[in-house]
Amino acid sequence: MPELPEVESLAAFLRTHATGHCVVRADAASFSVLKTFDPPLTSLAGQVITGVGRHGKFLDISTDQGLHLIIHLARAGWLRWREDLPSTPPKPGKSPLAFRLALDDGSGFDLTEQGTHKRLAVYLVRDPADVPGVATLGPDPLAADFTSDTLASLLSGRKMQVKGVLRDQRIIAGIGNAYSDEVLHAAKMSPFKIAASMTPDDVAVLLDAIRSTLTEAVGRSEGLAAADLKGEKKSGLRVHGRTGQACPVCGDTIREVSFADSALQYCPTCQTNGKPLADRRLSRLLK
Ligand SMILES: [Zn+2]
Repeated sequence: MPELPEVESLAAFLRTHATGHCVVRADAASFSVLKTFDPPLTSLAGQVITGVGRHGKFLDISTDQGLHLIIHLARAGWLRWREDLPSTPPKPGKSPLAFRLALDDGSGFDLTEQGTHKRLAVYLVRDPADVPGVATLGPDPLAADFTSDTLASLLSGRKMQVKGVLRDQRIIAGIGNAYSDEVLHAAKMSPFKIAASMTPDDVAVLLDAIRSTLTEAVGRSEGLAAADLKGEKKSGLRVHGRTGQACPVCGDTIREVSFADSALQYCPTCQTNGKPLADRRLSRLLK
């Protein structure tokens, strides 16, 4: 799933390639992809793209008429830029092609989604805050005003495991399952540490890990074509998705434990004093 660094890089890529161009047409493969009906998608035709931004994991393409095309790629969605875009609109059915936007120079992009769970979402709105997932976003961790005070107030009094806090878009915007594993590994912190129990030193270490992990990931993908971002994300991860491999810091074996609807990966030596975390889902099943 694309998270803050990949969406940031996609935004930068589109800013370079799409800004200043006029939309020829925009088509969704189905009603389930397009979450809004007013203004209609057809109204995009003739509008000039004036900027591309990001809200958490949402892409925001703005036009000279004040509209915003907001895209959430979800778990299995991706954006494919094409210099030579086919002129046929996407068709409903089993194809991964979910959305197509054509520009005046023949270029444009496709949004694709693999798998059967269709979660990719497109919104055409007058104000980004009209998108419910954008309106409820917490602060952006790469914003200049996201300080240790900001993070301390987000953690304070929260009887939640830090892994859950980092992933919750309503608390902090843009970090998902992969980068929360990476941040906690960089911070040498247990994913099960309770947010409310953190000392000012813990908060400082965590903030530093959030900033360095995300900034490095954005840096690695800077200037990459949209097509290359996915591979770059995978190869840059140190613990996430690497169960059974050696920790690049200490050489211990990276372990996995279930968390919420999926799993998390961590290094016992770096993060939990060498002790494996108990898999609560498994122990519940065994009872
Ligand atoms: Zn380690």
